[in-house]
Amino acid sequence: MERADRTIQGTVFNIQKFSVNDGPGIRTVVFLKGCPLRCKWCANPESQLTKIQVLWDYKKCIKCRHCIDVCPKQAIRYTDDCIIIDHVKCNSCRQCVMECPQKALKTEGEIKSVQEVLDIVLQDEVFYEESGGGITLSGGEMLAQPQFSMELLKAAKEEGLHTCCETTGYADPEVFKKIIENVDYVLFDMKHWNADKHKEGTGVTNELPICNMKYANAIGKEVLARIPVIPGFNDSLEDAKQLALLLKETGTKQCQLLPFHQFGENKYALLNKEYAYQNVNALHKEDLQEYLQIFLKQDINAYF
Ligand code: SF4
Ligand code: SF4
Repeated sequence: MERADRTIQGTVFNIQKFSVNDGPGIRTVVFLKGCPLRCKWCANPESQLTKIQVLWDYKKCIKCRHCIDVCPKQAIRYTDDCIIIDHVKCNSCRQCVMECPQKALKTEGEIKSVQEVLDIVLQDEVFYEESGGGITLSGGEMLAQPQFSMELLKAAKEEGLHTCCETTGYADPEVFKKIIENVDYVLFDMKHWNADKHKEGTGVTNELPICNMKYANAIGKEVLARIPVIPGFNDSLEDAKQLALLLKETGTKQCQLLPFHQFGENKYALLNKEYAYQNVNALHKEDLQEYLQIFLKQDINAYF
């Protein structure tokens, strides 16, 4: 097999060490930027665009408007007491970030090569060996940077690492096949059983995720479905029943329920974006006991 191209670059927005929630054992999670979905409850809205983005902190800003003057792309404007950044015009030059007297602007995302990421991941190799851990690719959506993800996973396997990915499965099946080849354990999001409702909540339908989930199971990958349980979207007992049936149909035997939380709320303000779930109460395990039972009754090993 051809060796991984370790010079390929990708846009990474975080590398988190010592994670114990993103696959087996102790892991380093590499968060990639870019996602084809637009989930209304997304906890990482800064990860949705693949490009490096400028974030504005309204609490630090004194509205001096110096950033507007220094931007070479006329990508910044001042409207309704807010600094608005046009992410289409912005070329991520960081001039505004460097010149803001209040440090009210920062960029999200960094360009790194496969080798640079791997060097960081390999620093904790001893912990992976002892715990059965390894590397996890997350996002955003790793499938939004297919070449980079593929080479990074291939390189990780060359180093003997256990590989895991956290994915929506939203990609052309041919692309998915190539990437999944080097993944040992798949954390697979499933948001809704109904195509129209899936589109309403995420901007895309669920045919590709279902097709790719079936494929991952069919080739013997270990698949853990992850269901974010979102108030008013997929939290009814009928939703639980239909989701459980869908998992069975795809061959998935285990699933983790992720009750809705508000961890991402503040990030929407930094991005000047509206948040559809503002003031919606979080869900807790105790609220979802009956919901959980429905999966267990279908012989799906479900847990929180
Ligand atoms: S330069 Fe900084 S403090 Fe001044 S308006 Fe821009 S973001 Fe705000
Ligand atoms: S990063 Fe550069 S192009 Fe983008 S808003 Fe700031 S100054 Fe303008």
